[in-house]
Amino acid sequence: MTTLIEGKTVAQKIFDNLAHEISLLEKKPSLAVIIVGDDPASKIYVNLKKKKAHELGITSQVIELDESVSEQELLKKIDSLNNDPAVNAILVQMPLPEHINPVNVIEKINPLKDVDCFHPYNIGRIATGNKSYVYPCTPKGIFRLLDFYNIPVEGKHAVVVGRSNIVGRPLAQMLLNENATVTICHSRTKNLSEITKTADILISAAGCPALIKKDMVKDGAVVIDVGINRKSDGKLCGDVDFENVKEKASFITPVPGGVGPMTICSLMCNTMDLFKLQN
Ligand code: NAD
Repeated sequence: MTTLIEGKTVAQKIFDNLAHEISLLEKKPSLAVIIVGDDPASKIYVNLKKKKAHELGITSQVIELDESVSEQELLKKIDSLNNDPAVNAILVQMPLPEHINPVNVIEKINPLKDVDCFHPYNIGRIATGNKSYVYPCTPKGIFRLLDFYNIPVEGKHAVVVGRSNIVGRPLAQMLLNENATVTICHSRTKNLSEITKTADILISAAGCPALIKKDMVKDGAVVIDVGINRKSDGKLCGDVDFENVKEKASFITPVPGGVGPMTICSLMCNTMDLFKLQN
């Protein structure tokens, strides 16, 4: 029997609890989002975050800066938000224009307000097995799913496909911190299927449609698909050949409706966590 991991439903339950918790607060958590330029996809993401924050009772402000803004001006803006006690969480929408170094921007955000958990202080805390102020949104969302479905991590062989700074790397560290045995695979990994076949928990965050096929998955494995890819017909698909792999998996996430809704859910929970830390 395969269980479908319904991220959309889990996220809604978490949102309901969060909205209730926020409704009881006199002072509300607050999120500031900076967007530079007019990238249409970035604008959609920022609007979604603003809308969700509003629904939950989180105060939000969107600061729109012109494409031509200098790095210095952007850093100054971040500094003023760092020093503003009315702002609990700061997010700079990526990607940034080429003339701005994202590393300088990420490192400017006060780690106590680093809602995306990109700052090396927070990432370093996780990498050294310590508690962080917050956790990266997509990996944390995956942990919330595993937790909701009572899927144990300790002692399991977790294989993570992908080593990006926002998903694969921090996820691998977090799995290690929870006592999984972790293997990280990437585009230069040889014999990928030999490794994925040994996974008790297989998580793919590669951005390659149908990368994970049925013969690459162990019977009864937990399969988590982070990938979001667009097919030629315009529909979304993940990295996993869902229809065939689901016959073998014990648990599996769909795309859409699996990991995706958990990422924005973690962002809102992180805003609340930072609010609590600061109050
Ligand atoms: P990225 O491009 O930064 O990293 C992709 C990683 O996958 C790299 O480390 C690369 O080495 C590895 N990779 C690529 N092709 C591979 C292959 N054939 N075999 C093995 N490894 C391979 O991507 P990212 O930002 O981590 O995102 C990965 C995917 O997850 C994308 O589809 C993205 O849209 C999606 N994503 C989804 C969410 C969500 O909320 N569900 C969040 C972030 C990213």
